[in-house]
Amino acid sequence: MTQIRRLDPETKRRIAAGEVVTRPVDVVRELVENSLDAGASRIQVAVDGDGTDLIRVRDDGHGMRREDAALAVERHTTSKLSGPDDVERVSTLGFRGEALPSIAQVAALTVTTNDGGPRGTRVHVSAGRVETEAAGRARGTTVEVRDLFSNRPARRKHLSSAKAEFARVSKLLSRYALCHADTRVSLSHDGRETFSTPGSGDTDALLGVYDRTVAGQSTTFSFVGDDGDGDEARVDGILCYPSVTRATRDHVHVAVNGRPLADESLRRAVVAGYGSLLAGDRAPIAVVRVTLPPAAVDHNVHPAKAEVSFRDDAVDEYVEQAVSEALSTADLRRSGEVAMDLETSLQPLDGESRLGDVTVIGQFRELYLLCAAGDELLVVDQHAAHERINYERLRAAVGDVPSAEVTPPVTLSVSAAEASLVDALADDLRALGYEASTFGGRAVRVSRVPAPLGRTAAPESLRTVLAALDGDGETPADVRDELLKDLACHPSLKAGETLSTEVGERLLDRLGSCEQPYACPHGRPTILALDEETLVRGFERGNTRLG
Ligand code: ADP
Ligand code: MG
Repeated sequence: MTQIRRLDPETKRRIAAGEVVTRPVDVVRELVENSLDAGASRIQVAVDGDGTDLIRVRDDGHGMRREDAALAVERHTTSKLSGPDDVERVSTLGFRGEALPSIAQVAALTVTTNDGGPRGTRVHVSAGRVETEAAGRARGTTVEVRDLFSNRPARRKHLSSAKAEFARVSKLLSRYALCHADTRVSLSHDGRETFSTPGSGDTDALLGVYDRTVAGQSTTFSFVGDDGDGDEARVDGILCYPSVTRATRDHVHVAVNGRPLADESLRRAVVAGYGSLLAGDRAPIAVVRVTLPPAAVDHNVHPAKAEVSFRDDAVDEYVEQAVSEALSTADLRRSGEVAMDLETSLQPLDGESRLGDVTVIGQFRELYLLCAAGDELLVVDQHAAHERINYERLRAAVGDVPSAEVTPPVTLSVSAAEASLVDALADDLRALGYEASTFGGRAVRVSRVPAPLGRTAAPESLRTVLAALDGDGETPADVRDELLKDLACHPSLKAGETLSTEVGERLLDRLGSCEQPYACPHGRPTILALDEETLVRGFERGNTRLG
């Protein structure tokens, strides 16, 4: 049984209080978090206009008793902490006891609630006056917020258009819906439903928030690791295949202990887990939940709790590892455009060796290998496939990159900044296979270049490598990887080359044993699959099987 109490002064001092409500979206966040904390399985959010007219959040959570409902609207009252030490191990989304009173300060607030008893309670707060009365309601809570900021003209003036304010709400609620995929969440604007999720897991939530293409090309995953102190750390969620990407990391939804966060380093870790499956300028669509023991996370570092700090910095690493492992076992073959429905694109992988039972049928336009694989017709981009094979071979040649002498050495003219980088990064460059020395402050003499497995880099590639080593966040290992990708791509099988069936089969064999056969090193697909069902439907053969 929950009971709301006033926080003691020491606890109040410890919580990083701040301005909670500056926009309509803040009201929605606080109310939705309260509903989740109340164990709701269904949350319905309604917004009129820009949200200043009305925001209503209705849930089927545990509700409140009459005396608790009256106390809830007072400042620093919460059922979620019982003493100062609880701040460090809080597992609920709320804990400061500030949301309802803060909202009541800038709006008219009505809370209608029932904890399962015969009668419910309605508490209305407006202009500092609190009225409590009996009210009918099934178990759960409805909070209505009207006339937001009517007593704060400056705040109100600061708001964007109704469309923009609602877009903020929609984005926020989508994140909660995706991160809490077992909760039914719906949003309506001016009486019209804009999205809803059915509360039946990740794939359906993705379908509710995005569409069939996105949901159909995704894989759920779950990973249990160690947080470094022997405590269990769990990473799970859903990852879209690299066939559906976006231009920004906005669609990488990360949550820690149930709270969606705008955490760039976690998002970067998710993207890093995709590795070379993604083209450099693309970002995936993914929902990644991290669950850690409450004591491992500090939610109390940000007034709106939009950021957390981890008491252990390995978190990014195992998020990357979890994503990478999930993708290496998923079947990432792109479905051909003709296969439009969810069932077809979700077909599971058959057999162990990924391209084990593939027969080469022929070649099309000297660009594509056509192959039969069970019920599927595969179209393999031979150039992309070859790049992938080369890249993995090069990468497997561990340690320093072998180099070759440039005779005679080549002189590159460089900027003063580049010249000083050459001196500063001499060791990193040597590990990458370059031998370069500066002279005259604006010139570099290149006497050795990387040459793994007989592929010799051009001396000019030093410029790209310098730029990459100088860039933010790129480690020498990343740069090495990029260099190998470029080397892998240049001498690969050119488009427009006739392949014998035998060479084609060897190519497929090698591709099948790659760690990641379904994309070239730069993230383009290597294989499209067209299954028999699609042909059956296309030729209108109904349920008859092809003989
Ligand atoms: P906090 O969430 O930090 O505890 P709030 O001001 O948001 O503070 O809420 C105060 C208290 O009111 C909560 O601790 C909770 O007990 C109760 N409460 C608020 N919203 C709901 C709800 N939707 N269902 C049940 N209880 C609620
Ligand atoms: Mg709260």
